[in-house]
Amino acid sequence: MKRMFARDIAIDLGTANTLIYEKGRGIVLNEPSMVALKEVNGRRQPVAYGAEAKAMLGKTPEGVEVIRPVRTGVIADFEVASLMLRHFISRVRALSWSMIKPRVMVGVPCGITEVEKRAIREAVQDQAREVRLIDEAMAAAIGCDLPVTEACGSLVIDMGGGTTDIAVISLKDVVYSVSVRQGGDALDEAIINYIRRRHHLLIGEATAEQIKKSVGTAHQDYDDEVMEIRGRSLILGTPTTLKVSGGEIREAMSEVISQIVLAVRQALEHTPPELSGDIINRGLALAGGGALVRGLGKRLSEELEMEVSIPADPLGVVAEGAGRCLDHGDVFKDIWI
Ligand code: ADP
Ligand code: MG
Repeated sequence: MKRMFARDIAIDLGTANTLIYEKGRGIVLNEPSMVALKEVNGRRQPVAYGAEAKAMLGKTPEGVEVIRPVRTGVIADFEVASLMLRHFISRVRALSWSMIKPRVMVGVPCGITEVEKRAIREAVQDQAREVRLIDEAMAAAIGCDLPVTEACGSLVIDMGGGTTDIAVISLKDVVYSVSVRQGGDALDEAIINYIRRRHHLLIGEATAEQIKKSVGTAHQDYDDEVMEIRGRSLILGTPTTLKVSGGEIREAMSEVISQIVLAVRQALEHTPPELSGDIINRGLALAGGGALVRGLGKRLSEELEMEVSIPADPLGVVAEGAGRCLDHGDVFKDIWI
């Protein structure tokens, strides 16, 4: 039987991944934020979305291009972002058998401008009967089970693809937030540059991401992992294989990680003392795909001298937290913006 109303949904529109949470059900969609487009008679037409588009990255046939419409947290290509959102939402709605459009909650970066907010609202408008926005940092903190409604300072670090966002929260409010353009993409780029400089080998983004996930580390405890990689020799011009170690990749990624440590230090300096006292006592939460970098929690914990907790599903916390606001509207009332 068809229900009258669609279940409300929450969307985490990330630079790397888009997740959708359906009220009462949890995360029902998790796809790379990518669209493959083909040029037909001067117009771009989508040929694949999400994982299917990502699989085409770097291997696209003539005339097909893979686009990431969200860059450094905001929509860079409005037309493609709208297409992607429409596609993902309609996929979720097709599963839910409902005739009436859902209410949609979208996570947005802290400090987003009015123009950017309007762009996001417009991108989901025709799929929604109402659009609400929530600070991504707030959603991440809720997803990490931090006590955001209490008069107590909480610090959350969300290391995504394009940016790392650091926020201090107390009493349902973001007291301080900063976003640095040092995320997973910057790590991939640092690995590409390192391998080119050190080994004269050219590798693509997809290979760099694989290296990061397999042997990448932020702490010397994991230096001994080894991986064989393939690329094009800049000297011979031919395909070549080579072994890289965790230690080398740690060195490659070190500068990006240092920038993040610095930004967290600055966030603590900008936090009122009572709240930073709470944070020092209770520790911080590390989320986003970056939380999966081996040893990052340990490195932050050692450098900042505080506890670092990583949630069970660091990639899901923004969707999870925004979704919990739908499930428990009474507790989180007025938390959306
Ligand atoms: P966004 O919110 O920007 O979409 P995510 O939180 O989804 O970003 O994180 C995506 C980033 O996390 C990518 O750069 C990806 O390479 C990285 N990532 C995902 N899994 C891992 C892993 N196991 N180890 C290291 N990095 C990872
Ligand atoms: Mg994110």
